[in-house]
Amino acid sequence: MDSKTIEYPVIWLQCATCTGCLISILNSVSPTIKNVLIDEVIPGKHVNLRFNATVMAGAGDLAIAIAEETVKKVKGGYLLIVDGSIPTAKNGVYGSIGERNHQPVSMVERVIEFSRDALAVMAVGTCATFGGIPAAAPNPTGCQGLKELLESKGIKTPVINVAGCPPHPDWFVGTVASLLLSGLPSADQLDDFGRPLTFYGKLIHENCQRRAYFDEGKFAKKHGDPGCLYELGCKGPITYADCPTRLWNTGVNWCVGSGGGCHGCTQPEFPDLVSPLYVKTIEIETAPNKL
Ligand code: SF4
Ligand code: SF4
Repeated sequence: MDSKTIEYPVIWLQCATCTGCLISILNSVSPTIKNVLIDEVIPGKHVNLRFNATVMAGAGDLAIAIAEETVKKVKGGYLLIVDGSIPTAKNGVYGSIGERNHQPVSMVERVIEFSRDALAVMAVGTCATFGGIPAAAPNPTGCQGLKELLESKGIKTPVINVAGCPPHPDWFVGTVASLLLSGLPSADQLDDFGRPLTFYGKLIHENCQRRAYFDEGKFAKKHGDPGCLYELGCKGPITYADCPTRLWNTGVNWCVGSGGGCHGCTQPEFPDLVSPLYVKTIEIETAPNKL
């Protein structure tokens, strides 16, 4: 690495998560995650991942010590990434990250401790952004999204929300690249939920390949039929993301393209207010069904 290269330390905490968000991001193709972690994808700038419990080789107290040292030594200069929602009930007893004085440190305590002096906090995935599946009713663990938690504690560190269950690798890599290139996003580059407009600026319904069917009132009655999937529970009319144009799995297909409908996975309403997934739960004006 050139001595003039600027290093950006990154600490990645995983809270109440299935690890699907990280797996999605590890599948980044252009650039690959190896490029992101090892090379200078932005010339002169390099992401230095100091802590991620799933991908790092280190473990135990030594690994935690590296994260704690980064927080102390690089105040205001490191990026904190969080995936998974944060269990807050009963003083956070439902999840811990490492120990202090031989006692577990709760996820909520760790997130608060590491957020205070971060340059920015990136919530990755709908659990970290809005609570997601672990925060679904009745939510016995008191899971919360990161922004809600930090606001309740008066922590003003900027939060960028990269929502999705899971998020597309491009949404994460593109947001990190933009941070390295241009610094923190301005308010007009984010939507009302803190999501980058570059990726979350348009409704799924606006660019959907089945939109002509919707406009003509041609609605599929069962999966596998041609037609718009609205009557089968598609949540595209309330969901913001660029899936119809970006596609998934390196441009192979996407949810509506494969006939499954959009589940609204990037939305704060996910999952409680978009369930049942294959039942129409949103009412919008439609033409009479002509299929
Ligand atoms: S309701 Fe769903 S399938 Fe129908 S046009 Fe909108 S996004 Fe596409
Ligand atoms: S189409 Fe909808 S459910 Fe599928 S990934 Fe995109 S936002 Fe999520």
